[in-house]
Amino acid sequence: MTNYAPLPVSFVSGQGAILTDTDGNTYLDALGGIAVCVLGHAHPEVQKAVADQAANIIHTSNLYRIPLQEQLAEKLIQHAGMDNVFFGNSGAEANEAAIKLARLYGHHKNISVPKIVVMTNSFHGRTMATLTATGNDKVKTGFTPLVEGFVHILYNNVEALSGLLQSDPDIVAVMLEPIQGEGGIHIPDDGYLTAVRNYCDEYDCLMMVDEVQTGMCRTGKWFAFQHEAIQPDVMTLAKALANGVPIGACLARGKAASLFQPGSHGSTFGGNPLASRAALAVIDVLEKQHLDKRAAELGQRMLDGFNSGLADTKGVVSIRGKGLMIGIELDKPCTELVSMALDERLLINVTAGKVIRLLPPLILTDAEADTIVTRLSQLLKHFLEQGN
Ligand SMILES: *Cc1c(COP(=O)(O)O)cnc(C)c1O
Repeated sequence: MTNYAPLPVSFVSGQGAILTDTDGNTYLDALGGIAVCVLGHAHPEVQKAVADQAANIIHTSNLYRIPLQEQLAEKLIQHAGMDNVFFGNSGAEANEAAIKLARLYGHHKNISVPKIVVMTNSFHGRTMATLTATGNDKVKTGFTPLVEGFVHILYNNVEALSGLLQSDPDIVAVMLEPIQGEGGIHIPDDGYLTAVRNYCDEYDCLMMVDEVQTGMCRTGKWFAFQHEAIQPDVMTLAKALANGVPIGACLARGKAASLFQPGSHGSTFGGNPLASRAALAVIDVLEKQHLDKRAAELGQRMLDGFNSGLADTKGVVSIRGKGLMIGIELDKPCTELVSMALDERLLINVTAGKVIRLLPPLILTDAEADTIVTRLSQLLKHFLEQGN
């Protein structure tokens, strides 16, 4: 179908942060398949796990116990401080599960039309409920009627949340990204997540964090909510979880953990042996190589690099990031930078029209990180000068 407009390039192989196209040209990958390939391409341990598992058993169905899925759940709840997990196949599906948990939570409290608070500028997926939750009209245009039961408020605004919770007793959950990704790498103020947590407690709402993009060590912690001393009630994961093998997960805790009963929700593929094995391999490498710490260190190195490389460059509005989730906002639309960078053999993304977004693999070498910084800084200077 015509829903994508792909760039005129395709990659046939990869190694670490390097991709090779059909003509044999090599590119430095600063996007990692949109935050998916945390361990880069053709990682030997992921490769071995997938091949090994495929030779053994790929799928059985959730009608039977799946020990690999149970092991994966154990690992995830251990790192996240949660109680249990539902597995699906994507970020949107993980969020659908979270939305269903919120609705059940409301009905358990005898709220007949439960509502979920979501944020302006957010992104939660492309299914009907998740596009409704998304705070971006572009994603919704043409798709009415939307799903009922969502209220949008300003992100990073504690007053907006407390005002709404005070006035609307039908609110049962707050769903938000701990750092907004698609929306343009927006990092909330320190203390914001803690304030959201406190209001959720005060008004008996579920705090649901969408870590689909931020999770799995990318921001310098296993999960971005861990930058503050809080625990959410629900957390969703996908993108990096199995380094490219499709999988999504919805983790729950405490009062949210026992809402689903046999028959409440399901997925044919969700958490099958192949995807679970791949995710276990990913977690094993993240643990062994302490890639949470590494992401923090590399992210700081790159931010410092951009800050000095782009100091006094007119047109750069802001350089921001946490770990290897980095955004550079310009004062004008810049989507053409993606193909300009491609010509320079560098893979980047532009989101929200004027924010260059970098989500490189966490296995990046120092030299590769520096190359991304110099190549992109040069390109940006050229681009911004050209326009003036
Ligand atoms: C990518 C993304 C999603 C959607 O994930 P899919 O796997 O494309 O369905 C949801 N939430 C956030 C924060 C994302 O970045």
